Amino acid sequence: MPPKVAVIGSGVSGISAAQKLIEKNCAVTIFDQGINPGGRLGIRSLRNPPFVNRPVDVGAAYFTISDELFKKKVAEWQTNKLVHEWTDTFHIFDDYEITTTTGPMRYATKEGLRSLARFELANLATKGVQHFQERKISLVVVNDKNVLVDEEVFDAVVLAMPGLQAAKIISDQELVNQLSKQIWKPILSTWFVIDSDTPKYDAMFVNNHEVISLIVNDGKRRGDNAPVVNVLTTHNYAKSRLENINNYLDEIVDHAIEIWNIQSEILEKGITRWSLAQPETATRVETPERLAIIGDAYSNKPRIESAWLDGQAVLTQLLAIV
Ligand SMILES: Cc1cc2nc3c(=O)[nH]c(=O)nc-3n(C[C@H](O)[C@H](O)[C@H](O)COP(=O)(O)OP(=O)(O)OC[C@H]3O[C@@H](n4cnc5c(N)ncnc54)[C@H](O)[C@@H]3O)c2cc1C
Repeated sequence: MPPKVAVIGSGVSGISAAQKLIEKNCAVTIFDQGINPGGRLGIRSLRNPPFVNRPVDVGAAYFTISDELFKKKVAEWQTNKLVHEWTDTFHIFDDYEITTTTGPMRYATKEGLRSLARFELANLATKGVQHFQERKISLVVVNDKNVLVDEEVFDAVVLAMPGLQAAKIISDQELVNQLSKQIWKPILSTWFVIDSDTPKYDAMFVNNHEVISLIVNDGKRRGDNAPVVNVLTTHNYAKSRLENINNYLDEIVDHAIEIWNIQSEILEKGITRWSLAQPETATRVETPERLAIIGDAYSNKPRIESAWLDGQAVLTQLLAIV
């Protein structure tokens, strides 16, 4: 019988781990509490004509590549026309001065970064992976001979989520204590549509600003040039504003409009909250050999690429089944 493994979390790291486990001939089931897969690859759909149902990325903004293994995965996404090179040049706003900065190529998608999760999950389904959204797991108990995931028996389990979320469902108190030490920072993410062209910027890092850290031209990112803008706040601003987030939408949008000197009318806007948006680099905790805990937190550059790579390394933790 192939080892039966539960992966909890259908974000980048969970999907990547599932792929690795399938290569190892495991029988994999993915559970995720969200309505949609992808975790922090969040999108929202616009409501008003002419952009009804057009997606806007409101979680991860783009990704970069530094590792050969991840480069291969991205090449596959490019072959399937899911991903395109967006830009290597962003603007910087610092105390009302605007300059540019050139860095690594930023990659983006037409349908939203979540489309990558959907693509990978569809591939995994053809390989026999079972996948359930809207399945919040409440309790994971790791025994010597098996693992109980909400009382269902598995040979091993992968917690592919922020350590603070993992700490809520593990029965082992020592692990809970260690995972609870992780530090995660929040972000509020807003989007708006205007009734004329957006400025020519691809995106702008906003430095030394109390409210805003990044403004993205979603039309340029997506390649359809729609006048849609996505704005991410600073962690500090978000920290004390995670309740009643709609109260802060106008303030955030007003700052972005001022920075980009947008004069036109706003046709639609919205806001979402990421309480656990970005981790401080975490120390990996020692786990029993039937349990792996993975995600972007175990890298000094927490991001999509590191989440993917951590998923690829999942077998180094699951010693009971290798
Ligand atoms: C606003 C924002 C901007 C970002 N910008 C960038 C960027 O520009 N570039 C970049 O590379 N990265 C960016 N990131 C980071 C990137 O999104 C993450 O590094 C990556 O998506 C993490 O994937 P993950 O699988 O580790 O975790 P997650 O995506 O958080 O996945 C965890 C999953 O576990 C599920 N889960 C948790 N608890 C349970 C439970 N009890 N039962 C069932 N399911 C559960 C959750 O629903 C979630 O789907 C950004 C993130 C945010 C929020």
